[in-house]
Amino acid sequence: MSTQTPEHKLQVESGKDQSRIWLSSPHMGENEQTYVTQAFSSNWIAPLGPHVNGFEEDLAAYTGVKHAAALSSGTAALHLGLILMDAGPGDIVLCQSLTFSASANPIIYQGATPVFIDSESDTWNMDPVALEEAIVSILNTPIQTKSGLSSRIKAIVPVHLYGMPAKMNEIKSISEKYGIPILEDAAEALGSTYQGKACGSLGDLGVLSFNGNKIITTSGGGALISDDKKKIEKARFYATQSRDPAPHYQHSHLGFNYRMSNVLAGIGRGQMEVLPERVAQRRSNFNRYKQYFDKWQTPGGLSNLHFGFQNEPEGSFSNRWLTCITVEPELNNGLSREIIRLALESENIEARPLWKPMHLQPYFKEYAYFGNRTSEQLFENGLCLPSGSNLTPLDFKRIFENLDNIISGFSSR
Ligand SMILES: *Cc1c(COP(=O)(O)O)cnc(C)c1O
Repeated sequence: MSTQTPEHKLQVESGKDQSRIWLSSPHMGENEQTYVTQAFSSNWIAPLGPHVNGFEEDLAAYTGVKHAAALSSGTAALHLGLILMDAGPGDIVLCQSLTFSASANPIIYQGATPVFIDSESDTWNMDPVALEEAIVSILNTPIQTKSGLSSRIKAIVPVHLYGMPAKMNEIKSISEKYGIPILEDAAEALGSTYQGKACGSLGDLGVLSFNGNKIITTSGGGALISDDKKKIEKARFYATQSRDPAPHYQHSHLGFNYRMSNVLAGIGRGQMEVLPERVAQRRSNFNRYKQYFDKWQTPGGLSNLHFGFQNEPEGSFSNRWLTCITVEPELNNGLSREIIRLALESENIEARPLWKPMHLQPYFKEYAYFGNRTSEQLFENGLCLPSGSNLTPLDFKRIFENLDNIISGFSSR
């Protein structure tokens, strides 16, 4: 049997004897295995068990909410959140366009109609101005849904992209003004805070993800968090096939198999112990990159190139899950994000364009979009750089040497 991994194959093909530098790879601490071993030795291999309860308590304590339900994925948490907000056919959900498709897919699972909202250029998240425009427009002029024309808006789904908190005060006051609840997609933002409060705790319901590339991981998993005890209990009920309390199998509601297993929750408990450290490591990555790119754009520096970053507004604290830059060719003698991405890739270093906005996705193109195309520009010029918490000084040396080679060719024309 071949022991070649896809990465190894790539190295051999490119003639490079260098290991791949990933965008964001799992990073275990010391105690994850201990917790998993405990699950094995006590035979709690089931979905449910003491680690699930412990992990839920850890999550609630860390984010400052009263209740958390550990689930099989962030997508499952979004889906249950929409069910709890009663979004179904004939209902509209307002969703940030610049995001991963998992923010929007559950709207379709429910047969509801997504309407996509543009980003603002500061945090790259939901633009409160476009959000209110969308609400006013839909209330005045009903839009086509699966059950005919409708103005019924059931939820607002803002995202804290790459860990950067969205402008939640503005979004919350719009939510209150029109009486539309917020399902907060904090899948990328565990460890981020907004005016002293944890991301995920700011909306009516909050969503976390522990997928393999997130700031902490259970290999796959998610959580729904809230102060609303009834809602979280209901989420747990739906997530365990909606089994009514009866000796036989009795169901009075549609069920889902969305609970997290006790084994994976064990990994989660170990990861929670190192979360503050992971946040510090990711923020330190950002500072390194910021310093690096500043040397190309300071008046006394190497040249007058221009690289943009996500701003961290006063009162916001980002976990800097991924460090991303924008590179406008017009400001940089033709240097584009794609030139940088391909040059890094040829050196076995992974970088990726920003999320492609949902309103540009073939699958979602029939749905309405409100905004002034900021997210399209961000997609066109944005690049996510390697940002794992396990990057070494040697990895950074390699990244910066390669960036030097690429960028210097554009700096003095
Ligand atoms: C990862 C992610 C999700 C989905 O989480 P899964 O655990 O992978 O299902 C949802 N929204 C955003 C913005 C994400 O980055």
